[in-house]
Amino acid sequence: MSGEFYCFNFSLRGPDSLASKWISEKRKTKGTLKENGANIYAISDYIHEVFCFEKLYGTEHTSNVLFNQIIKLNNFDKDHIVLFEDIILIPFTFSMRSYESGSFKEFTNDFEQEPIYEDKPASKSKLGDLLSATEIKEMLINIYHINYDLRSDVNIKDKKYDEIIKGEYLNFKDKAKLDLFAPYIFEIPTQKVVNSSEEAPVEVLMEETTVQPEIVNTAVEGYFYLRTGKPDREYNKKYKGTSKNVYCIDEIKKSYTQSDCVKLPYTYNDFRTICNIVKHECTSSDEDEFKAVAYASYNRAKTKYANEKSWLKLLKSSYSSVNEIYKTPLDDEEKGANDNLARRAVIYVLEAKEDITDGAEYWDGGDFLAVGMETDPGGNKGQGKFREYKFIEISNTLYNSYKAKWPNSTYKYKESKKHTKDLTHTPSETHTHDGDRIVYNCPAEVFTDKNNRNKNDDFYYLTDAKNKDGTKATKGITATLCAGDSIFWKVVTTRTTSED
Ligand SMILES: [Zn+2]
Repeated sequence: MSGEFYCFNFSLRGPDSLASKWISEKRKTKGTLKENGANIYAISDYIHEVFCFEKLYGTEHTSNVLFNQIIKLNNFDKDHIVLFEDIILIPFTFSMRSYESGSFKEFTNDFEQEPIYEDKPASKSKLGDLLSATEIKEMLINIYHINYDLRSDVNIKDKKYDEIIKGEYLNFKDKAKLDLFAPYIFEIPTQKVVNSSEEAPVEVLMEETTVQPEIVNTAVEGYFYLRTGKPDREYNKKYKGTSKNVYCIDEIKKSYTQSDCVKLPYTYNDFRTICNIVKHECTSSDEDEFKAVAYASYNRAKTKYANEKSWLKLLKSSYSSVNEIYKTPLDDEEKGANDNLARRAVIYVLEAKEDITDGAEYWDGGDFLAVGMETDPGGNKGQGKFREYKFIEISNTLYNSYKAKWPNSTYKYKESKKHTKDLTHTPSETHTHDGDRIVYNCPAEVFTDKNNRNKNDDFYYLTDAKNKDGTKATKGITATLCAGDSIFWKVVTTRTTSED
C-alpha cells in the first residue's frame, strides 16, 4: 500500500441518497438536513459513523475533529450549507481498488484481508481485524453510492435502486469497472480536540484542527473552458456526472483540481446561452467588441435587476434583438473564431477583469449615425436614443473612430408599413426613398451641424425626450468606447463634455 493521502470527493447526491437518508434518520436534530442540502456537521457525523473513523483512526478522532478538518479543507465557515449537488472534500486516506465484476459480498471478503499498516507490525494489521463484515459492506455500498450517481443510470427505471442500496445488485452494464477505496490507516497527532456532542458545536476553533493533510487530489467535476474561450471538448463530452458547474482554466488536463480552476457563477446551459447571445450581438471579429458587448449587457443587468446573476435574464429579454433561435446554448463543438471570442469575453466579465466600457450599458451600430433625428425605418421621429435620453454626447475622438467604421455616404434600410414615402415627413428631413428602401445620408445632419459641437468639436445634443409617463427625460448618455462597428453608451445625469 502506497499510503498516499487523498481526499474523498463527496456529494450528497440528492435528497433520496444514502447519505441524505442517513442524515434524516440518524440526526433528528433540528436543521441538519436543509431543503437543498445539509450542514457540515451532519455530513461529518455521517462520514464519521458510516466510514467507521473512530475504529480506524482511534477514539480521539471524533466527528467534531472531522468537522474541523472539513471546514478547514474546504474553506467553509461553520454554518456553511452544502447543497445536494455540491462536491466537498473529505480528508480520508484511502487506496483505490478496481473491480470489473463481482458482488458486494465478494468485495467485502477481499477488503477484510486488506492490509492497513504498511510499515508497522501490529496485532491488528488487516481491515477485517478492525471492522466487521457488515461494517465493511456498508462502507463499500456508501463509497459506491458517493462515487456513482445511481439516479442517472437506468437503475431507477429498472427499479434496481433499492437493490443497489441493499448491496444486492451492481450495475456493470454502464461502467467498465467499479472503483472502491480501501481506507489507509495513518496516525493522527492527537493534540487538543473539541468534544463530541449531539449538536453542532457552538464555536469551532479552527486552530484545533489536528490533521493537516497534504492534498494530492482535490478533483472537481463539471465543465471546463480555457480562458482563451476554447472548451475542454474531450472532458466536457465525456463528463456524465450531475454537476452543472462551469470552470475556467489556463491549461487542459486529464482531470482538474481546485487549484487548477475557477468556478463561474453560471451553470453549463446558462453559461453557453450567454455566450451564444453575445456571439450573435457582435458584428466584427474584434475582441474588444466582444468584451464590450459582454460588459455592457452585464452592467445593464446589474443596474436593472440589482443582481449580477440576472445577466442571462436580460439577454433573453427584448434588450437583445438576437433571433430567438440563437438564445440557446452555444455548442462546445462550435470552433469558429467568434465562438471562442464570445466564450472568452463572457469568462473575462465573470472573472471581473477590467471593464473596457467604463460602465456602459448600451450600444449602437450604424443606424444611430445614419438616422440621427430623421424618421427611423419604424416611423419614429429620431433614432431610439434621441427619443429616450435628455442629451447625447460623444467626444470628438470617439466620434471620429465611430464614423470611420461607417465610411459610406449613404445607408439603405427597408421601408416598414409605418414608414413609406407617403408618410408625412418634416421639411428638414434629408433622406430619400428608392423603391422599398429608405436612403439615409451618413452621417445624419444632426451630427454635421456645427451648432451641436463645442470648441473641442465634441458632439452634444439636447433632446426633448419624454419618459413613458410624459415627464421629461432626466438622464443623458455619453459615449465611452468605440469597438467593432459599435459605439457604447454609459447613462449619466450630467454633461461631461465642455459647454463652450
Ligand atoms: Zn421617409
